Amino acid sequence: MKLGVTLLLAAALSGVTAMGCATGVAVAADNQITILYDVFGNDRAMKKDWGYSALVEVAGKRILFDTGNDRDVFAANVKAKKVDLTKIDFVVLSHRHSDHMAGLSHVLRVNPKVKIYAPQELGGIYGSAIPSSFYRKDGSLPLEMRYYDGKPPEFVKFGRAWQDANIELIDKTTEIAPGITLIALVSETPGTRELKELSLAINTPDGLVLVVGCSHPGIEKIVEAAAAINPKIRFIAGGFHLVVTPDEGITKVVATLKDTFKVENVAPGHCTGEPTFTALKRAFGNRYIYAGVGTLLSLGPSTGGGPRRGEGPALKPNELTTYRKLARHEDPFDQPQARYLRSRPSHSDN
Ligand SMILES: [Zn+2]
Ligand SMILES: [Zn+2]
Repeated sequence: MKLGVTLLLAAALSGVTAMGCATGVAVAADNQITILYDVFGNDRAMKKDWGYSALVEVAGKRILFDTGNDRDVFAANVKAKKVDLTKIDFVVLSHRHSDHMAGLSHVLRVNPKVKIYAPQELGGIYGSAIPSSFYRKDGSLPLEMRYYDGKPPEFVKFGRAWQDANIELIDKTTEIAPGITLIALVSETPGTRELKELSLAINTPDGLVLVVGCSHPGIEKIVEAAAAINPKIRFIAGGFHLVVTPDEGITKVVATLKDTFKVENVAPGHCTGEPTFTALKRAFGNRYIYAGVGTLLSLGPSTGGGPRRGEGPALKPNELTTYRKLARHEDPFDQPQARYLRSRPSHSDN
């Protein structure tokens, strides 16, 4: 039997804990994030390509966050992890860039009616509608020269690239299910100015779990918005978009995440950038959680208890013993990586 590699222990080292019962807080028995698409990784069953997708299983929901850069690579990775796309509760498309949405055609082939949340943008590929008052009128023209024969509808609809898809557009930050919020922010960076991006924030009794796509609006701004939901940021996965940022800029962002927002654990991927991986690893130490394509990040089951700092309640007694041994090392990332990975059956295994 083939065994999948899980980062259970690394997640335990990170202190990532679980969801419990409380009003406005997500609840789940089993919580994990599987990286389905990225351009680095150590899982030989997975294809590597630029882009991002993650299966987020929390709060009793199975959320597909982004769909990667290539339909066929996405389909192959979904198959390799034995993810059943007919069992997805909903899809979140973070933004319109093709390295996050090109796999949608595969999702729709398998599950044509699946609910999809996407950012609302004027004239964007996910469709939109604006009041017909947006255009200037000239009543002196003959009707044959007037738009809509001079009788415009209240709203002008702009089509979507996937006409039959069940897309719900998100304009502003919205709690779409108890404890599950889509943070909507707009990029102000030249090159992506006006691009709207959704980030997934899941509130748990142990803090916020945040999944970001490309962070075009700025990872600091996204984390600031997340902190307004719950200032305790437990975990961030995804692309931080510092792939071309000079060292000084990286240092500033890393310090903001660590010192200003006191982010507890990071699992960066995609457009975070190689030098940023280094800087984050140095700053976060064993709270940097490796997350290549194929990695399963175990967030642990719900306990509602108060575990010791750094000890995930998901740990069985023997795992806890191993954890405590490993935790004695100052810098676990200097150790051979294999020591921190445990093989165990996952939902991807035969
Ligand atoms: Zn992008
Ligand atoms: Zn991207």
